[in-house]
Amino acid sequence: MSSKKAIVIGAGVGGIATAIRLQLQGFNVQVFEKNDYPGGKLTHFEIDGFKFDAGPSLFTSPRLIEELFALAKEPIAPYFSYEKLEVACTYFYEDGVRIKAFTDSEAFAKELLEKTDEPSENISRYLHRASLAYRNIANIFLSYSLHTVQTLTKAPIFKAISNFKWAYLFKSLNDYNQSSFKSPKLVQLFNRFATYNGSNPYQAPAMLSLIAHLEHNEGAHYPKGGMISITNALYRLALKTGVEFSLGQSVKQIVVENDRVKGVLVNEVFHQAHVVVSNMDVYFTYKQLLNNNIKAAQVKKQERSSSALIFYWGMNKSFPALGLHNIFFSKDYRAEFEAIFHTGLPYADPTVYVNITDKMEPGAHAPLGKENWFVMINVPANTGQDWAALEQFYRQAIIQKLNRVLGDQVESYITVSEVLSPVTIESKTASYMGSLYGTSSNSRMSAFMRHPNYSKAIDGLYFVGGSVHPGGGIPLCLSGAAIVSDLVQNKYKTHISPNNSVHEKN
Ligand SMILES: Cc1cc2nc3c(=O)[nH]c(=O)nc-3n(C[C@H](O)[C@H](O)[C@H](O)COP(=O)(O)OP(=O)(O)OC[C@H]3O[C@@H](n4cnc5c(N)ncnc54)[C@H](O)[C@@H]3O)c2cc1C
Repeated sequence: MSSKKAIVIGAGVGGIATAIRLQLQGFNVQVFEKNDYPGGKLTHFEIDGFKFDAGPSLFTSPRLIEELFALAKEPIAPYFSYEKLEVACTYFYEDGVRIKAFTDSEAFAKELLEKTDEPSENISRYLHRASLAYRNIANIFLSYSLHTVQTLTKAPIFKAISNFKWAYLFKSLNDYNQSSFKSPKLVQLFNRFATYNGSNPYQAPAMLSLIAHLEHNEGAHYPKGGMISITNALYRLALKTGVEFSLGQSVKQIVVENDRVKGVLVNEVFHQAHVVVSNMDVYFTYKQLLNNNIKAAQVKKQERSSSALIFYWGMNKSFPALGLHNIFFSKDYRAEFEAIFHTGLPYADPTVYVNITDKMEPGAHAPLGKENWFVMINVPANTGQDWAALEQFYRQAIIQKLNRVLGDQVESYITVSEVLSPVTIESKTASYMGSLYGTSSNSRMSAFMRHPNYSKAIDGLYFVGGSVHPGGGIPLCLSGAAIVSDLVQNKYKTHISPNNSVHEKN
C-alpha cells in the first residue's frame, strides 16, 4: 500500500476534469500548465470594459459538469449556474429570410413551416432519429475507450447495432440531410452541425446528424458569467478537492523507464508520478515530450479539423435584431467547404458567426448600450498561409456581408478590436496547426481512428482532450476525462482511504 501520485500536463477543460476525477479516486494530483492561467482554449480577456470569451461559445450537456460536482459531493450552486436558451441560434440568409431555432421542438417546427414550408413531421422524424442515435450509438463512443476488451463486454453494443443505419456511415451528412428535408435552407442549417467538430458536411458521415440532438432535444444553454465560468467553476472545484496546480510551468519531458512512466521534467526538475495524463495535443506530446517522431508522424497522417479566424469587436451600439448566437450563412455552402478543406484558398463569402454574451446579461460584458461581438469564420488549419493578409481579406468580407444582411455600416461602430488566428491558437494552447477540435471527422472511420486515451507502449501514460478519443468540444473532452478515470481505476484499485492511499491491482 502506498500513496500514489498522478500528474496532469495541461489545465484545459479535459485536464482539469481528469484531475478532479483522479483526486477523488485517491491520487495526489498535480497539474502543470504552461500558461499562467487555467482553461486552455476555454479562457477570456477584457479590453476597455468589453469582456470576451476567447474560444468556445456554445454550451451543451451541462449534466457533464453537474456530474463532477455530484462526484465530489459539492453543491454546484455556489460555483456555477446556467439557463436553457429559448432560441439556440438565429440564422440569417442572404435572401432576407431569418430563422429562429427555438429549443422547444414544436415552436421550432412551426417556425420552419412558416419560413421554409418544411412539413413539421420531417423535423420531428429527424430529431427523433438523432436522439435514438445519440442515446444508443454515440454513448458507446462517449462513455468507453474503443480500444479495450472491456468495452466489448460492458458497453451496450447490441442496442447500438439494433439502432444502427448504414446511411450513418455510408452517406455524407449533406446527402442524409438532402434526403430528410425539402428545403435547401434546412439542409444548410443541419449541415452546419458538422462544423461543431471542425468537419466538412459534404464528406463527413451522416452519423454527425446526432449532434443536432444536443442542441434541439437536450437544449443549448448559457452559463451565467459567460463560458469562462465553466473554467472558473471546474478550477475552484479541483482546488477544493485538493488538486495542486503549478501554473506558468511547462512540462519539457515525460520520463519513461523500461516502458513505464516515471514522472515528468519541469524546469530541469524531475517530478515523480505513477500516472501521467497528457492534456497537451497528442502530436506535440509525442514530438516534444517523448521525442518519438515515429508516433508523431502517425498522428500527423490524420486530417486536422478546421481552425478559425476570430475578430473580437467592442461595438459602440446595440443591435436589437441579433441574439446570443447568430449565423450569417454563405450563399454557396459547398464551395465554402471546398475552399476550407481542399483548395485552401480564401473564400470570398464565408459563413459568419456572431456571438454576443452581453445579450444575456446586459451591461455585464460591455458598457451599457454597447455590445461585445465575437465574430468567427471557419478557415483551414495552419499550413503556413499568410494569415496577416488573410486577416485583412476576411475582415472586409465579413464587414461587407454583415452590412448587406443587416442593412447597416457595422465597421463604423467598432471601437475595440482584437484577432485570433490559427497561428495564435497554436501558440497559446499548443494545438497542432491551430485546429480547434484535433482531428476532423471527415472520414467514416475517423471516430475509430482517434488516438486512444492510453498508451499501448508506455505503462501509466494516458491522454485526454480534444486531440484524442472521443474528440474535441467541451462535452467530448469532459467525457474523455471520465474514460481516462475509468481506465486508471480499472488498473489501480483506487478508492479514498483514511490515509489517502491507493492500492495497485497488479
Ligand atoms: C475559437 C474556438 C471556438 C470553439 N468553440 C467551441 C464551442 O462553441 N463549443 C465547444 O464545446 N467547443 C468549442 N471549441 C473547442 C473547445 O474549446 C476545445 O475542444 C476544448 O476546450 C479543448 O480542451 P482540452 O481539454 O483539449 O484542452 P486545451 O484547451 O487544448 O488546453 C490544453 C492545455 O495544455 C497546456 N499545455 C500544452 N502543452 C503543455 C506543456 N508542455 N506543459 C504544460 N501545459 C501544456 C496548454 O497551455 C493548454 O492550456 C472551440 C475552440 C476554439 C479555439
